Amino acid sequence: CGVHFMAETSKILSPEKTVLIPDLQAGCSLAESITAEGVAEMRAKYPGAQVVSYVNTTAEVKAASDICCTSSNAVQIVDAMDSDIVIMTPDQFLAQNVAALSKKKVVWWAGSCIVHELYTAKDMRAYRENDPELKIIAHPECTPSVVAEADFTGSTSGIISWLHEHKPAKALLVTECSMASNIADELPEVEFAKPCNLCPYMKKITL
Ligand code: SF4
Repeated sequence: CGVHFMAETSKILSPEKTVLIPDLQAGCSLAESITAEGVAEMRAKYPGAQVVSYVNTTAEVKAASDICCTSSNAVQIVDAMDSDIVIMTPDQFLAQNVAALSKKKVVWWAGSCIVHELYTAKDMRAYRENDPELKIIAHPECTPSVVAEADFTGSTSGIISWLHEHKPAKALLVTECSMASNIADELPEVEFAKPCNLCPYMKKITL
């Protein structure tokens, strides 16, 4: 399996299965940024607001939340909540990107992905100046300023669908390096530029 929260989530969804994680230290900066106490703190700060937690969280945080979302359904989940204010944890950048598209007032926990937060809008502009043909494709864990420079922003599956549909000659994948490689393997006809930021947690799993 991938990092720890993925193994834990897989076990919750398939309790009858044996889930193996080769290295218990394979964590995630997002999952490690918040505990159930953090969720309680946010609820106390915003009484009545419902909590949407990203899948990159521990089981404890998921249990303390009202619902769990992925990067592909985050906007729909937030829009479907009953409260006018929605708390998103733990990714501040995913939350800010959702806030820009949602009809709800979104507030967030200040976690971030240590890989996606490294990308900057300045880098994106430099790539584009260097090659105006390049389509910039960003994951929503990137900062809103990077997302603003992108031609498309979406989850890994959303990125793959967009690339299949639009078939750009060249694309820049602004996401984790091994995820970018997996996407590139699916689309040999597209020339990919991959600014390679590897996740040190994911790198621990070498199977
Ligand atoms: S790239 Fe690494 S730190 Fe970032 S969300 Fe994925 S597992 Fe977590």
